[in-house]
Amino acid sequence: MTNNLKPNPLLEMQYQQLAEIAGCLWEKGWAERNAGNISLNITGLFTDESISKPAKLQSVNLDENYSALAGMSFLVTCTGSRMRDLARLPKENSVIIRISDNGSSYQLIPVADNKLETKPPTSELITHLGIHSLVAKRGTPEKVIIHTHATELIALTQHPGYKSAESLNHLLWGMHPETMIFVPGGIGFVPYTLPGSEAIAKLSIQCFEQHDIIVWEKHGVFAIGETVSDTFDKIDILCKSAKIYFMCRSAGFVPEGLSLSQLDELRTLTKKFSTQ
Ligand SMILES: [Zn+2]
Repeated sequence: MTNNLKPNPLLEMQYQQLAEIAGCLWEKGWAERNAGNISLNITGLFTDESISKPAKLQSVNLDENYSALAGMSFLVTCTGSRMRDLARLPKENSVIIRISDNGSSYQLIPVADNKLETKPPTSELITHLGIHSLVAKRGTPEKVIIHTHATELIALTQHPGYKSAESLNHLLWGMHPETMIFVPGGIGFVPYTLPGSEAIAKLSIQCFEQHDIIVWEKHGVFAIGETVSDTFDKIDILCKSAKIYFMCRSAGFVPEGLSLSQLDELRTLTKKFSTQ
C-alpha cells in the first residue's frame, strides 16, 4: 500500500480529540449501536505532497453542489461505525474526504490501510456538508459538527409543550444559570423529518442560521463548535438542564426555574462577556 497519509502531528491531535469525545458520547449513553456521527473541517492540516502518491483516488459524486467547500478536507465518521469503536480506533472508523475544486464530488483520502477506501462516510453526510457550507459562507470559525442521540433532550421533544425553540429554551435556560452563559443562542427545533433526507438537511441548515445546537424531534441533536470538546460541551450543558428538570418531576414537583428578570440579568452578563 502506497497511498496513505504520511505521519502528521496536527492530524494526530484531531484523531485523539475525536477518540476522546467519541468515548464520552458512548459513556453518556447517547450512542447506542452505531448512533451518531462527527465531522471536522481539517482543511490545511495536510497537503497533496503529504499523501504518498496513490493509484487513482476513489471519487464520489454529490447530489448537490457545495461550491463554498471546494477544495476543503473533512474528517468524517464512517457509516455504521460505533462511537465505542471510534474511541479505540479513530482511524479505522473515520474517513478523510476532499471536496473537488468545483464542489460537485469528493475524493476519499486513505489513512491507515486499503480497507478505508471502501468505507463510505456517514449517511448524514449531506446534512454535515450543508452545515459546513453555511459556516464557510458566513465566515465563522466553527470546524466541528457532532450528531448524537442525547437522551434527555430527545425525551423533552416527546412532550407537545416542547416542540419549539422558544419553549425549549425557556425551560433549559431556567434550570441552571450557566446554561444561558455557555449556550446563549439556545437550541433550535427541527420537527420530525425523515433522517438522511434532503428535507432534514435543509431544515437543519436553516436552524443553524440562528443556533449552535439544534434538536431533531424524537431523534437527537446536532451541534457545531470550534473544537470537538467545545461542541460536546454545548450538548452536555443543555442535557444537564434537561436532567435537572426530569429529576424534579421524578421527585414529584414542578421546578420553579429562573425568573424572567433573572434570565435577563444573565443575558446582559453574557453579552458583556462576549464583547470584551
Ligand atoms: Zn441519529
